[in-house]
Amino acid sequence: MTSRQEEAGDAPAVPDSVSNYADGAWVDATAETSLPVTNPATGETLATVTLSADRDVDAAVDAASEAFESWRRVPPVDRVQYLFDLKQELENRQEDIARTLSREHGKTVTEARGEVRRGIENVEVAAGIPNMMREGSGTVEDVAAGMDETAVRQPLGVFAAITPFNFPAMIPLWFLPYAVATGNTFVLKPSERVPLSSQLIVEAIEAVGLPDGVVNLVNGAADTVNAILEHPDVEGVSFVGSTPVAKHVYETAARHGKRVQAQGGAKNYVVVTPSAILDDAVPNIVGSVYGNAGERCLANDVVVGVGDVYDDLREEVVSNTEELVVGNGLDEDTDVGPLVTEDARESVVAMVDEALEEGADLVLDGRDFDHPDHDDGNFLGPTILEGVTADMAIAQEEIFGPVLCLARADDLDDAVEMVNSTRYGNASSIFTERGSEARKYKYEVDAGNVGVNVGVCAPMGFFHFGGRKDSFFGDTHAQGEDAVQFYTEKKVVMERWYS
Ligand code: NAD
Repeated sequence: MTSRQEEAGDAPAVPDSVSNYADGAWVDATAETSLPVTNPATGETLATVTLSADRDVDAAVDAASEAFESWRRVPPVDRVQYLFDLKQELENRQEDIARTLSREHGKTVTEARGEVRRGIENVEVAAGIPNMMREGSGTVEDVAAGMDETAVRQPLGVFAAITPFNFPAMIPLWFLPYAVATGNTFVLKPSERVPLSSQLIVEAIEAVGLPDGVVNLVNGAADTVNAILEHPDVEGVSFVGSTPVAKHVYETAARHGKRVQAQGGAKNYVVVTPSAILDDAVPNIVGSVYGNAGERCLANDVVVGVGDVYDDLREEVVSNTEELVVGNGLDEDTDVGPLVTEDARESVVAMVDEALEEGADLVLDGRDFDHPDHDDGNFLGPTILEGVTADMAIAQEEIFGPVLCLARADDLDDAVEMVNSTRYGNASSIFTERGSEARKYKYEVDAGNVGVNVGVCAPMGFFHFGGRKDSFFGDTHAQGEDAVQFYTEKKVVMERWYS
């Protein structure tokens, strides 16, 4: 592995303060507790975020409740005109958002641009909601003599979304466009570690002139989340984050009578069979593991070689990994940025140490990586372990860092058993050129998102984002038609006329 020496590109103007947004105005949170927002590549403090108190949550929810009564009456075709404008505003600001995102999160600016694009894709899909809301509705004439029966979809009120640090721009946009286009109003609570991207997204929303109170923003951490979960005027909650918090959100929101969809953590495997084309497969797999510095819920960080493909697979994985450039995400040729915090870096190192104690072998060691220009960066070099078996902690729990685990399977049955041995069910991929192997894999793996010769199987906005087992708590998922179902309730009307 190598490291970047050059200066990072021009730093974007990041918002110098982090504010809440309620009832169409930027407001300061009233609480006393605040946290620094730190650039993980340089250690520089970018801003300070105040953790909102209950009264700040009340202000946002009150604004959203008040806006709901008139917003729900705006025809869907008129509501989505704001989304067409929002798409344009986000595209105009894409570079600023991407560079801010790279500074607060650490990911490469190329990854950040891709992330913003995937967010915009959801705005585009939600612009089709006037048509999508027809699903599950419709009229049947003459259910009895002269009586017709109709089902319609209606919005419910105030929805909140609580989002994680690893996709600061995309994940808020998994929810916001659908909630708003279906006629609900919305409160966003972004991760306190990366609140700046949301400031820019809400600035774009402000620019399109959505009526006051339709979209609101509260910054904060656990206490702020709990105030949302317990708030009587919040109808439903969308959550993405770690499994323990997802469970807490699911249980607490449900106990308070809310709709809830909660996406949790992951442990993803990729299986490579002897029929796979390694020259195509390996760059894909290496990109899946080390992209976003491994801080991705779709990272396939356990790579299982089936039968005699293992030796060639190992060789290509190692040589591809050695090419990766570690550095500041703002350098255009960086492949692997820093981890989000020093704690995150230490926890990944601890997982590697534990795996070695459990009997794994070290092929490439990135634990002591030092960046020559950034002493205070949370960098880890790409690391490869081999001899990883399903009973090791590193094969069962999320790593969330640039670590690739090589494992062997005797045959495809053996590989599927390993894949299904974890408590998670987020994603899994197979690399094969045999249809029968691909079919067996698609059929048998307990993962909500499956890739066939695709390393990062991130569903497009018009499909739902899957998740099973401890990776998802709820019924309907994010994105696409599931989002329409989540954000609306069906009402049945039976009607007849006597005169
Ligand atoms: P996290 O669970 O620490 O935080 C997520 C959100 O919950 C944040 O907004 C945070 O403020 C809030 N929160 C944290 N602790 C809380 C508590 N005790 N009570 C109430 N709220 C709390 O997650 P993270 O570290 O920001 O994100 C990484 C995790 O998200 C990983 O596990 C990753 O797999 C997961 N993730 C999953 C998906 C998916 O689609 N399944 C997508 C992206 C990220």
